[in-house]
Amino acid sequence: MALLKLARMGHPVLRQPARSIPAGQMDNPALQRLIDDMALTMVEDEGIGLAAPQVFQSVRLVVLGTSETADTGGTTNSHTVLINPVWLERTGDMVEDWEGCLSLPGLRGLVPRHNLVRLQALDRSGHSVQLEAEGYMARVLQHEIDHLDGILYVDRMPDLRHLAFLDEFRRYWSGTPAGADQRQKTGCSSPESVTGGQDNAQTNSS
Ligand SMILES: [Zn+2]
Repeated sequence: MALLKLARMGHPVLRQPARSIPAGQMDNPALQRLIDDMALTMVEDEGIGLAAPQVFQSVRLVVLGTSETADTGGTTNSHTVLINPVWLERTGDMVEDWEGCLSLPGLRGLVPRHNLVRLQALDRSGHSVQLEAEGYMARVLQHEIDHLDGILYVDRMPDLRHLAFLDEFRRYWSGTPAGADQRQKTGCSSPESVTGGQDNAQTNSS
């Protein structure tokens, strides 16, 4: 496995709609290697999600990371792979929270997102899966899937006055109503999306 170089805002690959991956190509070794490399890159950069355009591959592929505490007390990392994700539902209240992005290093912005989402996708074996998420994980999914459509979180911000460098964010915003207490738990250290809340996601094979 290899660490991948990240595309940063300004590179055209982040602004073009990514193409679908044909269902017959799931066993392509290059695709499987890309998935493994993206997972490694995401963990190494302390991200919670990574979309293929961020590593210069304009295909509809997202890798999501989760940390789980094992019975032994240690922490294990696992990841979820979503290929060609399609929204089935985006509902719930629009909720504002702070986000970061590996492609916009050192910045945080306040972004409204749907609180509840449901989607369908293929896993890395080509099996159809449905995923439901709310709160934090719903936010992560919307952030990552936006990347597949050439959209960055700054495009979703209604007010660019709520865009800050990380040091200034921590200093001036993390204790304010717009930058609530729970955000400090993670310290916004995970660049892809980030802040607060408990995730609540379930994967269902279908
Ligand atoms: Zn991002």
